[in-house]
Amino acid sequence: MNDKLAVSKDHVVHFHYVLRDCDGKEVESSRDGEPSAVLFGHGNLMQGLERALDGKMPGEQFEATAAPADAFGERRDDWTQRVSKKYVNGAARLKPGMQTKLQTEQGPRVVTVVKVGGKFLDVDLNHPLAGQDVTFEIEVVSVRAATAEELSHGHVHGAGGHHH
Ligand code: ZN
Repeated sequence: MNDKLAVSKDHVVHFHYVLRDCDGKEVESSRDGEPSAVLFGHGNLMQGLERALDGKMPGEQFEATAAPADAFGERRDDWTQRVSKKYVNGAARLKPGMQTKLQTEQGPRVVTVVKVGGKFLDVDLNHPLAGQDVTFEIEVVSVRAATAEELSHGHVHGAGGHHH
């Protein structure tokens, strides 16, 4: 009997992923922890990942490549900003070329340090993977129908999701 559900809108998908940059270097992975959980079809995933997962079955493993527009965006020239060091964790250790996380109005954002001054840092706001074709290695772990409550909240409850 095959009662497995395919990945589709209004379903909760648990999946493992390894994200690689355009040189094949591993940037991020869920493999050392719990699988990611996402309410599918609600704009919670980047386009490239959403398209790759659509219709896949639990147990399927595959690779998908996403162009910048479907992943971390195109790189914008001269998109830098000067920030006060007192708003940056561990600012004293930062050197040009290093990455750090800034809290912004849109949430945490990974930026690259361009220049270090006495009291300020100049940072490049482009995501480090902007302008790159990235590759995801994906394993679909499980798929289940979302609950009415999850659909109204727009996110997953329970394992891998929100607890409230
Ligand atoms: Zn909720």
